[in-house]
Amino acid sequence: MAEPPFTDEHELLRESVRRFVLAELAPHASEWEAARWFPDSVFGAFAQHGFLGLKYPEAYGGQGGDVLHEAVLAEELARCGSGGLAAGVGAHVNIATPPIAKFGTEDQKQRYLVPAIAGEKIAALAITEPDAGSDVAGLKMHARRVDGGWLLNGSKMFITNGVRAHVWVTAARTTSEGGHHGLSFFLVDRQDGVSASKIDKLGWHASDTALMSFDDAFVPEENLLGRENEGFYLIMANFQWERLVMALGAVGAMQVAYDKTVAFARQRNAFGRPLTGFQALRHKLADVATTVHTSRVVTYDALRRFVTTDGDAVKEVTMAKLATQRACFDVMDTCLQIHGGAGSMEEYEIERMARDARLGPIGGGTDEIMREILAKVLAL
Ligand SMILES: Cc1cc2nc3c(=O)[nH]c(=O)nc-3n(C[C@H](O)[C@H](O)[C@H](O)COP(=O)(O)OP(=O)(O)OC[C@H]3O[C@@H](n4cnc5c(N)ncnc54)[C@H](O)[C@@H]3O)c2cc1C
Repeated sequence: MAEPPFTDEHELLRESVRRFVLAELAPHASEWEAARWFPDSVFGAFAQHGFLGLKYPEAYGGQGGDVLHEAVLAEELARCGSGGLAAGVGAHVNIATPPIAKFGTEDQKQRYLVPAIAGEKIAALAITEPDAGSDVAGLKMHARRVDGGWLLNGSKMFITNGVRAHVWVTAARTTSEGGHHGLSFFLVDRQDGVSASKIDKLGWHASDTALMSFDDAFVPEENLLGRENEGFYLIMANFQWERLVMALGAVGAMQVAYDKTVAFARQRNAFGRPLTGFQALRHKLADVATTVHTSRVVTYDALRRFVTTDGDAVKEVTMAKLATQRACFDVMDTCLQIHGGAGSMEEYEIERMARDARLGPIGGGTDEIMREILAKVLAL
């Protein structure tokens, strides 16, 4: 039975996403993680099933669904067994294309959203810079007006899909004013003025996290996204959704780790009985099951409020992000411990899940920033 806010229809979608993830992605997860890259054709495979445009209107090639359909995908993607793959596809559907759908002109939607939904153009969102992450007001990349458009100069850091993208949705300064003012958004096409190099990292191995350089990168007039100097609003507009999606991904990943670990503990024997025969381990598993359940409840509650308030659920979404990300890493650590030595072996995948979970309390707004937001919302 469907658990609110999902309906039976969302559950049908869940079944079909799960089938796709288990049949077409999971069997390749280890190979792609080892290669530190998943093929671009994966976007095409998602598109064939309509999974790159679940929440977008049919007029643009989408499925005409809502954010709850997208939420199903976010939770189920965790079953693919590669945080990097989930991050790459997630960045495309959850952070890079939403600003185009929400603020793009009809022409921009035709040129970027339609091919993105069709899996023909891969998108990245490039906000973070080497000297500005949490502090978005500290962004330095600048755009200088020239005949017919702008020239962008500066660097971007930690950009998911940064190397493989065909279009970077990016923010740059368009006035000399500092702080939150004078930022604008641009759709930047591949060109000589843009270079990206892949950075090695703890987890998410299959995804290309990039350091990027924009050297006189030309952006035509028609590729300004939203209004000039109002880019900060665009950055803020999708934060709640990005954080909800991260919470959903953590819930999905925790569920997978719990299921895997229970199965392992039931068949692994020590001192003449299965690991589940030891109270110390049974209690750990009971704690993990409780964390998975409470994380899901908090996240679904935030999702419900997000849907019913048209995205105005800062407190609940922030709490869901904060509650689930560290919890997910802790769950992975416990599950790894229950696996014993096998827990550090690549073959058992739990070491990968633990590495992949470590980004949660950092990406999309750190745990410290979540607490700062809550302190404001709660007027502390
Ligand atoms: C694998 C990966 C993928 C990413 N993908 C993308 C992407 O696709 N696009 C993109 O734009 N960005 C991306 N990011 C960047 C990510 O969003 C930032 O790393 C994150 O927002 C934190 O910024 P920072 O790394 O600059 O850390 P900083 O902001 O420098 O923070 C460093 C430490 O200081 C703490 N801190 C900062 N300010 C405060 C404060 N006011 N109070 C208390 N503590 C504070 C932080 O919590 C943190 O612990 C990615 C990062 C990684 C690692």
